[in-house]
Order: sequence, then C-alpha cells, then structure tokens
Amino acid sequence: MISRRKLLKNLSATPLVGGLFGTGFWSVSGRDAGDARSGAPNLFEELGVTPVINAGVTMTFLSGSLMRPDVLEAINSTAHDFANMYELQDKVGAKIAEMLQVEAAMVTSGAACAMVLGTAASITGKDAEKRKMLPFPPGPRPEVIMQKSHRYVFDQAITTAGAKIIEVEGANEMEKAINDKTVMALFFNAARESSISHEEFVAISKRHNIPSFVDAAADVPPVDNLFKFQKIGYDLITFSGGKMIRGPQSAGLLFGRKDLIEAAKLNHSPHEAPIGRPMKVNKEEIFGMYAALKAYLELDHEKEWQDWLNRIDQIKSKIEHIATVKGETRINPGPANAFPSMLVSWDQDQVKITPRQVYEALKGENPSIVTNVRRDEEMNEILSVGVVLLKPDQVDYVATRLKQVLQNAV
Ligand SMILES: *Cc1c(COP(=O)(O)O)cnc(C)c1O
Repeated sequence: MISRRKLLKNLSATPLVGGLFGTGFWSVSGRDAGDARSGAPNLFEELGVTPVINAGVTMTFLSGSLMRPDVLEAINSTAHDFANMYELQDKVGAKIAEMLQVEAAMVTSGAACAMVLGTAASITGKDAEKRKMLPFPPGPRPEVIMQKSHRYVFDQAITTAGAKIIEVEGANEMEKAINDKTVMALFFNAARESSISHEEFVAISKRHNIPSFVDAAADVPPVDNLFKFQKIGYDLITFSGGKMIRGPQSAGLLFGRKDLIEAAKLNHSPHEAPIGRPMKVNKEEIFGMYAALKAYLELDHEKEWQDWLNRIDQIKSKIEHIATVKGETRINPGPANAFPSMLVSWDQDQVKITPRQVYEALKGENPSIVTNVRRDEEMNEILSVGVVLLKPDQVDYVATRLKQVLQNAV
C-alpha cells in the first residue's frame, strides 16, 4: 500500500502539464448547480487555470474536496450581512457540540490549525499572559507525548504552538515520560502501528491529568468516527472540514472538553494577537462548516456507498471491452480514505502502455484527470481510479477517456 505522503511525493515529482489542450471543460462536464448563474465569468478560463477532475482521493494540493451545495448556499446566503465573530463562533460551536454529543466545539482553519490551537490551549489554559507569549511560554519548554510510530508531517503544529514532542513506545514508557512539563498527549489515528491502544492512551492521560488529543483528520467515512473518540474519552478531537465532510477546504473541527475549547478559542481570531490569529476562519466558512457537517450527518451513507460501487461498475463495463483489461473494486481499509476505488490492470503485452503512462496521459488532458498510481503486493505499479470525488456526469467521461487511452495502446 502506498502511503498518502508517498503518493503526494510521487505526484508532485511529476511535471504539471496543463492548459495546453483547449478549453472544452464546461461543455464536457457541465457546471455545478452552485456556479450555474448564467453570465458569470469562467475564471478558470480567464486565468488559464486547468480544471481538474479528481479521480483519486482528497488531496490538499488538488483543493481538497468539492463543497456540498448546502455549503455553497450557506456561504452565499450569509455573505451579505455582518456578524459578531465571538457570537458566531459560540453559537455554531454550541450547535456542533450538540450534533456531535460533546461538551464543546469550534470551527478552525483545518485540522492542522486545530492541532496548534489544542496544543496552545493545553499550554495556556485561560492564562492571558501565557497566551501573549506563545510560542515561547515562560519556564521550561512544554512537552507533548507522542508514540514514536505516530510521528508524521503534521506534528509540526505541536512545535508551532511552542511545545516539544517526546517520543514514547508502549504504555510503560508513556507513564514514565509524563512529568511536570507534560501538557498534552497526541494520538495520530491513521498511524500504521500503535504500541499503545486508544483506551490505554486515554487512561494514562487521565491518570496524570493531561489532555489527550486525537487527530482523525481524514477518517470519515464511516460517519460513526465523528462520535467514536469522545466515547473513548479523548479530551480533544479534530477532523478536517475539506476532506470527505466536503466543507470549505480551509475549515475544520476541534471538539471535546469545554474548558479546553474555551482556551483554544482564546488563542484564536478574533482575539487580537494570539498564536492562532494568522489562522482565522471567515464568517462564511464558519457557517459553511456547520452546513457541511449537518448535511453530512443527515446523508444516507449506505446509499452513497452503493452509488460509489455503481460508479465502479459503470466504468468497468466500459473499459473491460478491451481485451485483458480488468477493473477491480478495492476498499481502502482506512482509517484514512476508507472508501472504494477501482484498480485497473491489463496485460502489457497486449495493451502496450504502463500504468504510469496512463496516469500521465490523463493528467495531461484538459480538463486534467488525476488518477493515482499505487503498488500491488508484488510492488508492481497499478492504476487506481477514484470515484468518490467525481461529479455524476464525470463518471462516464472518465470511463470514456480511460478507455480511449487504453484502446490507443492496443
Ligand atoms: C489532512 C490532514 C491534516 C491537516 O488537515 P487540514 O484540514 O488540511 O489542516 C492533519 N492530519 C491528518 C492525519 C490529515 O490527513
């Protein structure tokens, strides 16, 4: 299995080809309901930005996900009046807390921001002096406990807030590592290996009276994960807004214990100068994040899942007309990106093109179709076509283009 990070590296290593193939996008794919106002300028065209069809998974560099129609409506309908940001954050937070059955919640500028604010809250509590001094609080440097196998690219957020990461392996080491300087313990939910279970991690944190934080940023579906960690007893939980919840890309959720959320808010905009001021969320995105979560919780998740499987069948039936081409449904076990996509394989003696060449060809089109290249058990490259981020009318288009590229290599 190729990791999200590796994938990202691979993708960014390939040159970006785009904007070279005319401007047929809208006639091919149609516009979303949200931008269908007739006469609105096409800014993709005006600026020469290549539109992307995301036949992969949510990727930050591919602009995350597409906001649900409910979110666009929330943004449009709230953009025409001012609001008091303290009141808005409080009221939206209270509502989100109720929806997620936790004490308190807030909208952040993404999960990475939630990690900065959660750490800041754990360092400062409600102490105004300490707040002003972050990331250099008075006294010895605060410490955050993490499992060695959980270290990842996003833990720089902990350092950003002024804390130092202490690596541990196993429950015993965690117990021993906790001292007067320890302010928090962070669990990366999608880590490949854990030497400490969620339950142990929370129990040890509670025993020593330090907040436990779980980063589950990309870990819906299943929707149940939005409720899982508060039941385990975590004090702070974060999810990205701009992944499969399909809220604004630069929004996210931080929720959990009331005193900590209060302290996190004090470390955030609209307060004048705390560590989180450069991470503000605008009014529309706060409303938008609320609308996204509400719509996501109300969704018929089984139906959506079935729809994803149907999309795979639809593409399969088109491409399997070419001799030796096979589509296979693969359900990512998660916890991140736990949804179906399609692996496509063929006999390269008959269809004389490599998976990477297909990936490059589709990516170079306009609109650019971005699939993924993964590795199978034998470490051979294999093409992966994602379906969960396609707009309905893009399913057939992706199938047609993929078929054409394969057909041309016969
Ligand atoms: C995406 C992601 C983040 C960052 O989330 P943003 O919402 O983009 O800030 C943090 N942690 C994990 C595990 C992620 O997948």
